Amino acid sequence: MNTDSPLQQARRRIADLEHTLSQARDEIARLEGEVTVCPWLTIYWSVTGATVSAISRGNLHYLAQFGYADDAFQSGQKQWTDIIAAADLPQVATDTMRHVQERDEQFTRVYRIHTGTGNVRWVEEHTAAVKDSHGNITGYLACVLDITKRRLEEEQRFTILESLPVGVWTIDRQGHVTHGNPAAHAIWNAPEFSDELIGYKGWWADTGKPLAMSDWASYRAVTTGATILNEEVEIETFDGQRKFILNSAIPLRDEVHHIVGAIVVNQDITNRKRIEHEREKLLTEVNRRAAELDATIAAMADGVVIYDNHLTILRMNAGAERILGFTSELAARPLAERLKAVHFRTTEGTPVSLPKFPVVRAVAGETVRNVIYSLTRQDGRELWVSLSAAPIRITDAVIGAVGTFTDITEFHALQQRQTELLHIVSHDLRLPLSVIQGYAQLLAGIITARQLDGELSAGLSAIVRSVQRMNLMIQDLVDVARLEGKQLMLQCEPVAFDHFLPELLQRVAEILPISRVQVHLAPELPPVWADYARLERVLLNLLSNALKYSAPDTPVEVRAIRQDDEVVITVADQGCGIAAEDLPHIFERFYRVKGERKAEAVGLGLYITKMLTEAHGGRIWARSTVGKGSTFFVALPVARGDLLP
Ligand code: ADP
Repeated sequence: MNTDSPLQQARRRIADLEHTLSQARDEIARLEGEVTVCPWLTIYWSVTGATVSAISRGNLHYLAQFGYADDAFQSGQKQWTDIIAAADLPQVATDTMRHVQERDEQFTRVYRIHTGTGNVRWVEEHTAAVKDSHGNITGYLACVLDITKRRLEEEQRFTILESLPVGVWTIDRQGHVTHGNPAAHAIWNAPEFSDELIGYKGWWADTGKPLAMSDWASYRAVTTGATILNEEVEIETFDGQRKFILNSAIPLRDEVHHIVGAIVVNQDITNRKRIEHEREKLLTEVNRRAAELDATIAAMADGVVIYDNHLTILRMNAGAERILGFTSELAARPLAERLKAVHFRTTEGTPVSLPKFPVVRAVAGETVRNVIYSLTRQDGRELWVSLSAAPIRITDAVIGAVGTFTDITEFHALQQRQTELLHIVSHDLRLPLSVIQGYAQLLAGIITARQLDGELSAGLSAIVRSVQRMNLMIQDLVDVARLEGKQLMLQCEPVAFDHFLPELLQRVAEILPISRVQVHLAPELPPVWADYARLERVLLNLLSNALKYSAPDTPVEVRAIRQDDEVVITVADQGCGIAAEDLPHIFERFYRVKGERKAEAVGLGLYITKMLTEAHGGRIWARSTVGKGSTFFVALPVARGDLLP
């Protein structure tokens, strides 16, 4: 039986309550202690009627981090809403009211606050509803996190994404484009991306086949979850251009690993493709040319050898192998060793020194043409070769040389026979002529002495003239052969015109009407450096032409003047002249003006005259006017001793 008085009972009840209260106080103190060390700030949004006020509590360190004193919000002077950025405050307030009305248990939001030190920080709020005993929401307890760092990183990431040189866009599960960076817009030339993947046009770059919707990397990433990297696709942009892109797609997943969309990465490779295409074209062209060159070199009868700049043989054709008699083993050796196996000698018979060898000169940048060598091969055979060599350059650098070897053994033998023939012509043929000439002159003497009739003497002088002309013609033929074979040796000496010309005229008085010739020599004319006999031929040819191609009653003028280091001799007539179309050809071999029928002419005279002049280091040219006459010019070098210093 309970004997306690109501008072006692009341006292015990009070004691119990006090105990419970002190326990509750301890619990609150413990919780507050915990809150103080929590890495967030706790605030309480109290909802009174239609207004919202925030009371902040919590972590002191956290407050310090925001630049506020521990009790900054406790005295009631400063409210949390005071430090919310003005731009975000209305939103925060209406937001809270909406959540209350909609009886939301919890929500999350992000806004900016001003710190006590005047900075702005981003905070994220996670709230939970606080209710009274009737279940009405009286406020929200919010935990506030400083997310400034995360936010900055996100912004940075966004900036990077925006400025990436590759196109990046995101799509959702349905294939709607949710974002595209500027590069993506530039690639597709799209002010706005259209919503449907299906509208995009593309072809596989390798096959040219069109892409069906299910072929697109983005479609496959979203539907299968596969990551697709670098597929080459040709696309048609929104304004109808064709471009090549590298197309990649990576699926995006939520926390529970469901596919929510995809990131699509496009790289514009149109330029690279174009360059690749051009390179391929170029390569085909290069290969084609190389094949052409190969075929040409292989088909050439001449030997062609291509060297690098150390004169290692890179390639040689069959012609070269045949002429040089090289085994492939010998061809692979260095030049010095190759030249020990085959011996090149000059036309004078002296061995060729390495620095003078044409291909050695070619890699030094020189072009050498038609040097004649005798060649003794490894197998002992003797050949005559004509060797040319030229440098191979890329831009300015010599990267090698090409040498061509022509087998001229047969030609050389032919030349040898020609020399022998020349000997026969010049000596053996002239001998009977001089006998004829001698006897004719003897007979002429007898006829004159015996005063026999004029017809005989005219006949004899015709024989003498013809023999002399024939002698000249033989001389012409012999000279041409020698000049062309480069066998003519000049014996030069100083020749003075004041002696030379009168002597010449006197000597030809019998065969040419020299009374028509007028000589004008400039005063103090220096002697020229010439072969006396050949110079006579030059002048004689010009004189006889001038006399031959002009009327018998017209003069032929011979002049000589000095011009710099040359003496220029002119032979001018007042004859028929030479037509403009013939003038450039008159110095050619056997060239004769059309319609001309002079028995004694063979068309070699001017050709020989030119060759002889040039053999002297001189020049010859002509001017002519039809009906008025012609002037021939011969410029010869002044004899060296008489050159001015
Ligand atoms: P040819 O032995 O026939 O005279 P040339 O070589 O001396 O041969 O001359 C070539 C041609 O040039 C001649 O056929 C002639 O038509 C023309 N020719 C040369 N000299 C003269 C000249 N002084 N006047 C007119 N024609 C000339």
